[in-house]
Amino acid sequence: MAAGDYYEILGIPRTADEKEIKKAYRNLARKYHPDVCKEAGAEERFKNINEAYSILSDAQKRAQYDHLGHESYTSASKGSYSGGGGYGGFSADFSGFGDIFDFFGGGFGGQRQAGPRPGSDLLMNLWITLEDAVFGSEREIEVSHSEPCQTCEGTGSSTKKRVSCPRCGGSGQLRQMSQSVFGQFVRMTTCPECRGLGKIPETRCPDCRGAGISQVKRKVTVRIPAGIDTGMRLRLEGYGEAGDIGAPNGDLFIEVSVRPHDRFARHGDNLETVAEITPAQAVMGSEIEIETLEKKKVVLTIPSGIQHDTALKIPGEGVRRRGRPGDLLVRVKVRIPRQITPEVKDLYEKILEMEGSRTGQKKGFFSGFMGKG
Ligand SMILES: [Zn+2]
Ligand SMILES: [Zn+2]
Repeated sequence: MAAGDYYEILGIPRTADEKEIKKAYRNLARKYHPDVCKEAGAEERFKNINEAYSILSDAQKRAQYDHLGHESYTSASKGSYSGGGGYGGFSADFSGFGDIFDFFGGGFGGQRQAGPRPGSDLLMNLWITLEDAVFGSEREIEVSHSEPCQTCEGTGSSTKKRVSCPRCGGSGQLRQMSQSVFGQFVRMTTCPECRGLGKIPETRCPDCRGAGISQVKRKVTVRIPAGIDTGMRLRLEGYGEAGDIGAPNGDLFIEVSVRPHDRFARHGDNLETVAEITPAQAVMGSEIEIETLEKKKVVLTIPSGIQHDTALKIPGEGVRRRGRPGDLLVRVKVRIPRQITPEVKDLYEKILEMEGSRTGQKKGFFSGFMGKG
């Protein structure tokens, strides 16, 4: 079954609050939990439910999801995983699941199972340009993480076989009898030989020394969706650390930071830039050329009588988010010339005369005013 919109998966409206999300998740997770539901496709469904919940229950991730839309959000987090082979699959984000799984505690006869655990997630920071954030792009990054060892296919054994641990007899637990003044008691500890897995490599793999994992560097192409902003995270499934044998790798989260631009500032989906005009242009109106972030030349009409600090809009030249691109706002600053030619000075002199606000008269006005009192 194809995974649809996260809200559809949980069967809730887009306006659902935290409580409704949690409630819908609990009901569905209980219904489709692989331990109880034997229906075909239940496992897949359970995965999708978990994935939807992990995003929508996290305010930051939900905001990002709502902002980018399902397709952009999910495609941004799909890396082209070249190596490893066969270790993809289930990788829902388990952070913040504690209270939900406590809830399952009674009903399914078990706390969190001591089975193979998925690998931990990694977080890295990525600086991108404003152009990348506005138009979207692709970036190649190098990821250093652990993966199942290729020589032994993650088994830790050069024969690729694992045998029952002789120390704990395959249970993964050791019973230690202790005698105290209160009597005899049994203490269960995790078997140090097999680290609780119950199985050990038949013959130690020389490459990973039996650990089943190796540290590798990989080049990954990250798709940066248009509209991304500082603080948003992209998820690369399976690029975290290796998990226990048979469990999936963790994920790599890439937190994006957008470098400030020297000509453009971003406000949501709009971009803003500054254009300087002369007092004459402000009074009479004019046409000026603006270079957009995309380096496109656009002619902007300045209406006569424009006031200093007014913003004029060039539609569609903002953040190129699918469906609804933002605008480019051009903030007009009237720049007063510091040095003018005698000819221009004469013209200003004339304007002053006509306005009746000549320097001499102004002075007279003030002294007269002061004198009255
Ligand atoms: Zn053992
Ligand atoms: Zn190995």
